[in-house]
Amino acid sequence: MATPYLGYTAPDYSTDYASHYNETIQEVAAYVADALKNSPFPAGSLPPFSRAAYLQQPGYTSLETGYTLEPDGSAHVAVLTQMPRVTPEMWDWWFGWHGCRDNRYKLWHPKAHLSARWKDGEDEVAYIGRQSIIEEYIGDELSTASIQFKAPTEFGFSYEAVKNTSEAVYICARIGHPSLPLDYGYLVHQVRAVESGSEMRSRFWMGGQYIQVGKDGIFADLMSGLVRKMKTISEQFARDLLTHCAEEMTHLAAFLPEIYQQNNPTFDKINVEGRVINRSDSDFDAVLLGTLFNKIDPGRRPDRIVEPKTVQDIIATVKYAKAHGKKVTVCSGGHSWSANHLRDNSVLILMKGFNQYEINAPEMTATAGPGVGGSVLMRELYKHNLFFPAGHCKGVCIGGYLLQGGYGWNGRKTGMACESVTGLDIVTADGDYVHASATENPDLFWAARGSGGGFFGVVVCFHLKLFTLPKYRAIIVHDFYIKHLEDVYHWAYEVGPSIPKAVEFQMLMSNRMLNILGPGIEAVAPIFADTKAEYEEAMAFMANSPVKKKAVIATPAFNPGIDALYQTVMTHYPENHYWGVDNMWTHAPIDALMPYLKEIARTLPPPPSHFLWLNWHPNPQIPDMAYSNEDKIYLALYANWKNPEDTTKYGDWAATMMAKMAHLSTGIQLADEGLHKRTSPFLSEKNLKKLQSIRAERDPAGLFHEWHSKPDLK
Ligand SMILES: Cc1cc2nc3c(=O)[nH]c(=O)nc-3n(C[C@H](O)[C@H](O)[C@H](O)COP(=O)(O)OP(=O)(O)OC[C@H]3O[C@@H](n4cnc5c(N)ncnc54)[C@H](O)[C@@H]3O)c2cc1C
Repeated sequence: MATPYLGYTAPDYSTDYASHYNETIQEVAAYVADALKNSPFPAGSLPPFSRAAYLQQPGYTSLETGYTLEPDGSAHVAVLTQMPRVTPEMWDWWFGWHGCRDNRYKLWHPKAHLSARWKDGEDEVAYIGRQSIIEEYIGDELSTASIQFKAPTEFGFSYEAVKNTSEAVYICARIGHPSLPLDYGYLVHQVRAVESGSEMRSRFWMGGQYIQVGKDGIFADLMSGLVRKMKTISEQFARDLLTHCAEEMTHLAAFLPEIYQQNNPTFDKINVEGRVINRSDSDFDAVLLGTLFNKIDPGRRPDRIVEPKTVQDIIATVKYAKAHGKKVTVCSGGHSWSANHLRDNSVLILMKGFNQYEINAPEMTATAGPGVGGSVLMRELYKHNLFFPAGHCKGVCIGGYLLQGGYGWNGRKTGMACESVTGLDIVTADGDYVHASATENPDLFWAARGSGGGFFGVVVCFHLKLFTLPKYRAIIVHDFYIKHLEDVYHWAYEVGPSIPKAVEFQMLMSNRMLNILGPGIEAVAPIFADTKAEYEEAMAFMANSPVKKKAVIATPAFNPGIDALYQTVMTHYPENHYWGVDNMWTHAPIDALMPYLKEIARTLPPPPSHFLWLNWHPNPQIPDMAYSNEDKIYLALYANWKNPEDTTKYGDWAATMMAKMAHLSTGIQLADEGLHKRTSPFLSEKNLKKLQSIRAERDPAGLFHEWHSKPDLK
């Protein structure tokens, strides 16, 4: 056998993994240096080996980095190492792969590792049940050891904890002398997935009670007792072991993803029938930016885009992301104003192709994929004399719309659109395909109705309850020049609470009312009534409006038909524009709001930018679901512009204006969220807490991105 040596010589550089060899070992992180300064911690601060399974509990213990010197002469050592981009499976592979060649072992710590070989002489990629004989410097001391790898369950870890290697891996070993029947320590490296990749929690129990001479038996026990008395672990050794561990784990983590990829070429393949679009593909940006309704490019980029064809494709993508330490984002219609689905270090799943629907007219139910446009569904339902509270604009898909709640046509009467979701088919963060309803997976059902862009699953299909198409449908419009601002908003504020539920009364302020007139306010009353009496009652407040006489145009009630209705609304939401949007709920007195309404009128960007006042006055009782934040009046600012250079001019107007009014606000809708610019409550505190606890159960490793920001939980 060749004499072991430190570092690489010429032949070592001939391997294809030598490119990862880097002799520069970084200084230990500041928290490790602090831990060394503060050690030894009081004896007993780190649990003994007999309680090693405590590592499988979530969270952290009070001591994650440091060492203790125990009365029996043993030392307990703990080291926490953060490893961005690294997955637990990579470590699992590393322990099986490196042990048969010195020059593989040296990659890990070039300044301290000399040699490694498997006792069985084989070079298969496996470690559990095998003995690795290593030679390394721990501090200045050259040590030779036998690392006897064990199954984690032998060390007391539960099958539940170890079964999913994409969530956590436990590398467990007995440490002993390479040739004598003498063992003197244990080690456990728990590698668990965290948001940025993974973290390793290393534990060593050395010397003292952990010394065992020979096998079981009276003689072995006697000898062990004798050696234990003699063998007290020095403090220097404990310090050196801690430092060595922190150095080698950090060093290897820096290139582990690359060396893993090099040795596992199929690792990066997503096995799907649909298309996978990589950053290197020429149309990557075109596909990505093509998903955006709001044409502002936020600069964030997923690593890969998947257009799944089947549910199996979605499952494979979720599993791929998990195994690669990537997050998942989902896009259906791409109408998130904040481009919620564009995130770094992620795999983006495009659900636009899941746009099939099926209407069961006799049962008044439907199933629809998330890529179905609300207006598409609505047109189809009209043919069956049926109705669903779909959103007001073309292009918005039910995927994002229903998850955030859904403020749709006739929504004040039908309730939020998500109240008419009776079930969902979902691919979970575990890659399971499940149905969620009031009785099956009720936690997911609860979460999917209101969590919006913070949902932690991929919705594949919605099951919907339908309504009979209201028989009496009409719209009444009163247009006012901006000089009547005070009168118009005072009236709207005062009449608001008494406006019947069959009317979704709203007012649009813009600098080009009706696309032809100058700055003004358009008061619009869409009516969806089931009976003549309800219809007449719904119209009355517009007919009797005290400000009607000031209107430049006051239409009678007329029914433009659903297509014209959508077309009219779309004149305010043109495609291929840049948008800055923000919103708030309020019940503030009109006198408190008035100065801000005037400021909005003064500063409103050019048309078709607009300001929406929606009379909501919600139902006092809503079902128990994540959706939980609403108030009497909804105010939203929609700035938009065609020239990208105007982004600096108008991009922050909406968020800045809403920030000024924040003291009058009771939170925001997720429909028009601008959480990338401004945080505000979007669920009740209680429901956000509950949602986050469901997330912790369903997506403990944070596979799915949350909203851009969220309020701090008390
Ligand atoms: C022009 C316009 C008009 C609008 N009108 C209304 C309206 O009348 N009423 C109303 O309530 N809202 C309205 N909105 C807001 C709209 O409902 C939300 O932006 C909604 O999220 C858009 O859904 P989407 O599927 O088109 O968007 P996406 O951008 O695809 O989805 C938004 C987010 O929802 C999540 N998501 C989407 N699909 C899935 C899925 N299948 N599984 C898991 N998560 C998913 C993702 O986190 C995604 O980032 C409007 C928006 C625009 C741009």
